Order: sequence, then C-alpha cells, then structure tokens
Amino acid sequence: MSTFEPWLNSAETGEAFTHCIHCKLPLLEIDSTWLINKDFHKGECTLEYAICDGCRELTSEDFSEDSKKAVRNFLENEIPWDERLQRFVLHPLSRMENCVACNCPRELAEDYATSILMDSVGEIHFGPLPLLICGGCIELMSERLSQSTRDSWRRFLEEHFDYPPQLSSLPGLL
Ligand SMILES: [Zn+2]
Ligand SMILES: [Zn+2]
Repeated sequence: MSTFEPWLNSAETGEAFTHCIHCKLPLLEIDSTWLINKDFHKGECTLEYAICDGCRELTSEDFSEDSKKAVRNFLENEIPWDERLQRFVLHPLSRMENCVACNCPRELAEDYATSILMDSVGEIHFGPLPLLICGGCIELMSERLSQSTRDSWRRFLEEHFDYPPQLSSLPGLL
C-alpha cells in the first residue's frame, strides 16, 4: 500500500466518506475537522464511520471524567511519541503498519483499529493521528474505562450499527 486511501475510503462503498454518522451532515460543508474510524478483525473491516467534531464532543460528554483521564494517561504514558513521530515524519505510511502503542506489526494483530483526523477541506491532518492500535492495546485501554462509559459507548454503537462488534475502540479521545 503506497497511499492512505484504503484507510480513508469506506470499505463498504470504496468511496470517500461523505456524511457524519451522527448528525448526517455532509462533511465537506461543515466547517470543522472530522474523524474516520475503522475496526478490523482478521483483516476485514467490521465497523467504519466518519464523525464530525461536534458530534464527537457530544458523544464523549457521556463518558466519565475518570475514563477520559485514564485513556489520556494510557496514550501519554504507553506510547513513546518522540520516537513514533520521528519515524512517522520519515515514513508517513508506517503509521498504519504497526500498533502505535506496543509496536506489533499489523499482520500479527487479529484485531486492530485505525483513526484518521481530517481537516475541514478533507485533507489528512497529521499529528498524533493517523494511527493504528492493536486489539490487545485497545483492551488494555478499555479495562480502564468505567462501566457507565462502556455503556454509553455501547449505546452509541447500537444506535448506528445493526451488529456492533464486541471489541471496539473509543472515538476521538486523543
Ligand atoms: Zn456530526
Ligand atoms: Zn498494541
């Protein structure tokens, strides 16, 4: 893979995401950044959506402060950002090759999730994102979430998907 395209486009349609999953507004017409999140199981995309900043904030309002703090701590303490960002500058696509936290190769991860931040005109915004995180690390992070946060995340998934997967990363806590 020599471009981010496979991570950007919908696995279902093969085209770019056009609308926010929550408010249903056209992404290019909202003056804000948005996230493209995908979950994979054994190499197959099991869940995917784009969500605008406003909806992401609304959704995470239901998450407890303790949970948000726990995830922030995990991301700050478990990821050697200096090393990662140096590598990402030289090899942008290496972001999608290994887990950002434990560095395991994507091919060895049964489950993983990807998250990409887009700017308001639809270009990738490079920072801590785009990133890929493996199922093991998602689980480690999820263990630190309160039950109420897990419940509200589950409600969000059930509202938008017929068959939400058991293991799913939280949107946009970075
Ligand atoms: Zn929205
Ligand atoms: Zn990992």
